[in-house]
Amino acid sequence: MAEVRAAAQIEKQTQSDRRMRELREQGWVVVGYKDDKSLPMDSYRLVKRGLRLWLGERAERDAISNKLRRQVFARDNNTCVICGISVGDEYPDMPGSKARMTVGHRIPNQRLGGATLENLQTECARCNEPIRNLLKNPDTFEDVEPLLKDLSASELKALMTWIDDGKKTFSKLDLAYAKVRYLSPGELSKAKDFIRKAID
Ligand SMILES: [Zn+2]
Repeated sequence: MAEVRAAAQIEKQTQSDRRMRELREQGWVVVGYKDDKSLPMDSYRLVKRGLRLWLGERAERDAISNKLRRQVFARDNNTCVICGISVGDEYPDMPGSKARMTVGHRIPNQRLGGATLENLQTECARCNEPIRNLLKNPDTFEDVEPLLKDLSASELKALMTWIDDGKKTFSKLDLAYAKVRYLSPGELSKAKDFIRKAID
């Protein structure tokens, strides 16, 4: 009991009762000394660990059907709406990496948002798990300054918009690439013929 209170930074019994209730709603199975007489006074036994919301774990993942997931990926062209990377692509700052797409929530809170097409968006695994990224040593401004110095004014303007919006907007070129690369072989060769003629 003392450990639970210390971990949750709570002092009153009513607060710890409420916290216990919340944990049970999130799938935690905790047996108290009142339920199990073999436990010492003021003790609890953790039977099953539930969602660790404070680590960014989400319940809705299982609630998203494969059909809905496919609809989300198709609408977003299999491209992360946050950083703009496409499935299977290499992250510019991680040579040899391969981006994997997941489904994220526009409104993160399960009770407010929910698993609807409108509230779901394609996010690569890296953008979907910011907690894990925070554990790495982040770059400093000095690390990225040379990259910024290399950009044109219009590129910097676009960059500023992406930072403020928290997502990348796609150019016509990005969009065309995202679409064309998923054409069937027959359709792809038609597209390549078209491109070849246009650039000759
Ligand atoms: Zn991303």
